[in-house]
Amino acid sequence: MKRLIAIITCLLLSSAAFSQDNEGFFQRLRNHFVVHDTIIIYVHNNDTIIPNDADSGEGEEDEDEEEVEISEGIPVPIDTLDTHEMFRKVVLFDNGTWLYYNIDIPYLPYELESDYWNTERVHSFNDVALKDLPDSVQLILVDSIHHYCIPHPGRVTSRYKYRWKRAHKGIDLGLYTGDAIYAAFDGIVRVALPINMTGGYGNVLVIRHFNGLETYYGHLSHFIVKSGDIVKAGELIGYGGSTGHSTGPHLHFETRYMGQAFDPERIFDFENGMLRTEVFTLKKHYFNINSHYGQTDEQSLAASKKKPISSGGGGSAYYTVRKGDTLAKIAKKNKTTVDKICRLNGIKKSKTLKIGQKLRVR
Ligand SMILES: [Zn+2]
Repeated sequence: MKRLIAIITCLLLSSAAFSQDNEGFFQRLRNHFVVHDTIIIYVHNNDTIIPNDADSGEGEEDEDEEEVEISEGIPVPIDTLDTHEMFRKVVLFDNGTWLYYNIDIPYLPYELESDYWNTERVHSFNDVALKDLPDSVQLILVDSIHHYCIPHPGRVTSRYKYRWKRAHKGIDLGLYTGDAIYAAFDGIVRVALPINMTGGYGNVLVIRHFNGLETYYGHLSHFIVKSGDIVKAGELIGYGGSTGHSTGPHLHFETRYMGQAFDPERIFDFENGMLRTEVFTLKKHYFNINSHYGQTDEQSLAASKKKPISSGGGGSAYYTVRKGDTLAKIAKKNKTTVDKICRLNGIKKSKTLKIGQKLRVR
C-alpha cells in the first residue's frame, strides 16, 4: 500500500516538471491514476460517511453530532483489504471512501485510445516534436496492481546505438523462430501490422501502456493479438521470428514515449530478467541515440549533444501554430526558412495561419 501512496505523491510532484506544450495530453497522462480513483470513489461512496451536504437542515452546526473529517482534494489511499474473491481488493482512502479494485483487469484510461491513437502506422506521434516534450517525466512502471514481464528471456545481441551508420533505436534479443513473446506491461495493443505495412519492423506489435509508454515488438513470425486488445504484463502476444529487415531470428524491442525512443536497458535488466526501477525518471536527453544505460546523466547529456537529435517518426517534424505566430517566427523557431515551410505544406507565404494548425517544419 505504501507503494501506491508513493506513486500518487510522485505523480503530484512530477507535475511541476511538465512543459506547457501539449498540456492537455500530459495533464491527462499525469492524472490518470488520480482521475481513476476519483471517479470510482464517487461511484462507491461508503454508506457510513456523513454526506457533506445540508440536507438535514441548516442551523444545526451547534449540535453535538460527531463530525467526520473529510480531507479536501485528492483522496490518498491508506490501506488495502482482501476480499473473498482472489482478484478483488478493497482500497481505503484517507477521506473515508473506498473502492473495489479488480487486479486482474487492467485499468484503461480512455485517453490511451483517443490521443495520437493510430492503428495503421507503427509511429503515431509524428506531429509531436521532441522540443515540445517535457525535460523530464516520471513514469510509474509498476505498482501493487500493475506488473512487468521481460518480453523474451533471451541474450542481448545488439544494443541501442548507432549501428551501420543508422540509429538502432531498440534492443535485439536472440531467439528461435516460434519462441513466445510476452507483453512487457499492462496495456492496449495499438498496432498489430503485417510485414507489408511496416517495412523494416516486419510483423510488428506496439502496445501502449498506462503511463503513456509504448513498447514495440518487431520481426515476429506471427502475433496472436489484434489492435484494441487489452493485454496484461506477461501475456503471450506473439512468436519471435525474422520478418522485415532482419539477418536472423530475434526480437527487436523498443521503448518509446510520445514517439521518441530511448534505451530499453534503462528500464530492463535483460540479462537478469529484472526491472531496474519501479518509478523511472525519463529525461529528454535519453531520446538521443548516443545516450544509453550505464552513463551518468552528465555523460548522457554530453553524448546527446554530439549529433543532432532525430525525431521519432521518419525524420519529419511538425509545429502547432500558437497565438502571435507568423511564418517567419515559426521558421526561426524551427531553424528553417519560410520558403521551406511553404514547400513542405503546399501553402503560399500569404497564407493566414490558424491557432492549433499543424505545419510540417522538417
Ligand atoms: Zn533491432
